[in-house]
Amino acid sequence: MTRLVLLGPPGAGKGTQAALLSERLGVPAISTGDIFRANVAGETELGLTVKRYLDAGEYVPDSVTNAMVRDRLQQPDAAAGFILDGYPRTTEQVRELDGMLAESGAQLDRVLEITADTDELVRRLVARGQAQGRSDDTEDVIRNRQRVYLEQTAPLVQVYSERAVLRSVDGLGEVAEVTERLVQALDAVVDLREIRLDDVRAGDAVAG
Ligand code: ADP
Repeated sequence: MTRLVLLGPPGAGKGTQAALLSERLGVPAISTGDIFRANVAGETELGLTVKRYLDAGEYVPDSVTNAMVRDRLQQPDAAAGFILDGYPRTTEQVRELDGMLAESGAQLDRVLEITADTDELVRRLVARGQAQGRSDDTEDVIRNRQRVYLEQTAPLVQVYSERAVLRSVDGLGEVAEVTERLVQALDAVVDLREIRLDDVRAGDAVAG
């Protein structure tokens, strides 16, 4: 079972790494940003609702985002695990995700934070804006997205760190290097479980 959340500021490389980890782990990458953009492009009702938030670099209201994620996580392909890219982003979304997982008796295995300094982030996003023409990759909107991230999402690092599921990974360097760091941060999950199992066996041996 692989239930992961990728956390990190705009431009940290969550989308790129989510796709690579998805292939490697065989679970779907679920990007709320991608789903919103697809709906905007398709001019669906959801797309019309969220367009102005995306264009301004503001968060879509929690009620809208939560309902969308709930629906997506109920799809059969997410039953065995998932990589969430871009959700949760507010403490209210954390609560909501906790509820969704509890309903199916599941829990998060890891929250992986990808870090990078602000200058590098802005540089990457400006470059992406030029290459892909994303409407929110202009300098003004990028600054706003960074600000919103600091205010609303950065506090989640503390929340997940207190639950001991958080691992922080340096997002600077080659894409493949960063992927390896993330995979290493996952191996630690298995290692910890093995250690606990050994402890239990050692305990049994002593008791028996
Ligand atoms: P980035 O992380 O580079 O800003 P994303 O593709 O993850 O890009 O998100 C793009 C936009 O989609 C956000 O600026 C926001 O408007 C909206 N969005 C994505 N995820 C969420 C979320 N969990 N809550 C609210 N809005 C979201």
